[in-house]
Amino acid sequence: MSVDVIWRVSPNHSVGREGTPIDRIVIHYIVGDRAAADATFSQPSSQVSAHYSIGEREVSQHVSEQNTAWHAGHLATNRRSVGIEHSADQNRAPDAWTMDTSVQLCIEICRRYGLDPQAAIIPHNSVSSTLCPNTVDWQEIRRRVAAGL
Ligand SMILES: [Zn+2]
Repeated sequence: MSVDVIWRVSPNHSVGREGTPIDRIVIHYIVGDRAAADATFSQPSSQVSAHYSIGEREVSQHVSEQNTAWHAGHLATNRRSVGIEHSADQNRAPDAWTMDTSVQLCIEICRRYGLDPQAAIIPHNSVSSTLCPNTVDWQEIRRRVAAGL
């Protein structure tokens, strides 16, 4: 099975990857629900995006994996990575559906690019100064992807 996405296009991206191979998956939390991410990423003025947002039993795809999304606050990381947002906030961890779907999506991405999840799956706060991904247990995602590959 593969994860079904609904395209909700974001104008906030750069075309291509400047020749950089994809070797990272950056884990984020939305600080809200998926609809909040959909709304923010659709606005040019926000200047932010991610490739995927997961929550409330839907997966939005905002940017093609061929293109550079603006999610990590760090250009070199954006060029080499796929960014995944999760419905969660400071007091609410992602629900089981969101976690299960994230694991499945990360498995697909790791297979697509031949990635080792131990190196590839990283939290946003490992590349810039932020609380993100806060309540998203990215280590659980990494562990489950490694087990599922
Ligand atoms: Zn983030």
